[in-house]
Amino acid sequence: MGLSVGFDTPMVTATEDVPIENVEGSKRPRVQTSPPGFSGSSYLHGALVQIDTDNININFTKVSDLIDESTNTWKASLIQSIFRPDQAEKILCIPLPSHVQHDSLFWRYDQSGIYSVKSGYRCLTDSSFAPCTTTAPIRLPSQRLYLSLWSLDLPAKIKIACWRFCNNYIPTAINLINRRVNVSPLCTLCTNEPETLEHIIKECTFSKQVFSVLHLDFSLVSAENRWLQWLSHLFEQFSESERILFVLTIWALWFYRNRKLHENYNQSPKDLAGFVQCYLMDIKASYESHGLQFGHPIVHLQPPPVGTVKTNFDAGFNSSNKSSVSGIIIRDSEGLVLASSTYPNNFISDPEVAEARACEQTVALTAELGFR
Ligand SMILES: [Zn+2]
Repeated sequence: MGLSVGFDTPMVTATEDVPIENVEGSKRPRVQTSPPGFSGSSYLHGALVQIDTDNININFTKVSDLIDESTNTWKASLIQSIFRPDQAEKILCIPLPSHVQHDSLFWRYDQSGIYSVKSGYRCLTDSSFAPCTTTAPIRLPSQRLYLSLWSLDLPAKIKIACWRFCNNYIPTAINLINRRVNVSPLCTLCTNEPETLEHIIKECTFSKQVFSVLHLDFSLVSAENRWLQWLSHLFEQFSESERILFVLTIWALWFYRNRKLHENYNQSPKDLAGFVQCYLMDIKASYESHGLQFGHPIVHLQPPPVGTVKTNFDAGFNSSNKSSVSGIIIRDSEGLVLASSTYPNNFISDPEVAEARACEQTVALTAELGFR
């Protein structure tokens, strides 16, 4: 059963299971009736601020708690005890449906309740509307880690793989089991321990041997640190070349892990370390062939001005099977990643088409995310 409320202008909609939130840093709760991204809007007709109260009661956290289900009416005395008199009055003035209804979504910035491009544009350009933040910046424990990662002279796919590791966006066995996928919990590389992200990098005997061959020493950073903290400290301890080698090795370990799992491909730690070193030499040679000095790029990507985002894209083209992969990263003024995506494409005739396809997908992604 739901509650839909229409005011003269603009339209405001509330649903029964809308939470009453605690405002950070204060004891006053607010009734959150706006969709994500529109926080800070007014909720009651004529009110310029969010609903608040000094008499917080954690037993009542949803709008539905304020409604008597048997009579489908507001619990007047409860509302009057929680909210300020003027706000309580406004709440009690909201008509409730006389019969059971399913919850519905309404676009609050149009009288019809239906979203249109025109009303969306008006909302975004009219300063009298509530500020619209389409994506909240991701506040991560260590911004320096990410800034350092994105500045490395490595192909985007490798840095994105490392970024996914940082954020535990990797389908390790334990992550899959947590999502109710029926797989063996054991690490594919050593087959001894549960396969978690931290195991693969910090504890796995196979990985340890690979890192040892490559002279990557983690002993300067306490293994007791939490994952992101550990990575951040490691990045600070490592030199630029060690960071590059470390990120490349993470990518190679996961790449090999997948080949071993799905293709029964086997390699010794020494062979894998050799692959990493060869790959690094290839990247260096590629830089030099383009007149660039590896490890000291001539052009660094500059973050966009405050209040704007910057989208970078690139495409990799495979001429043998006429396929491509587009990679897209959207960053804010602090260089933090707001969104990233990769798209595989088939039936691509040449590198120019691959780039054009990546450009098209970038425009579609940014539009889909609500950036303009
Ligand atoms: Zn292992």
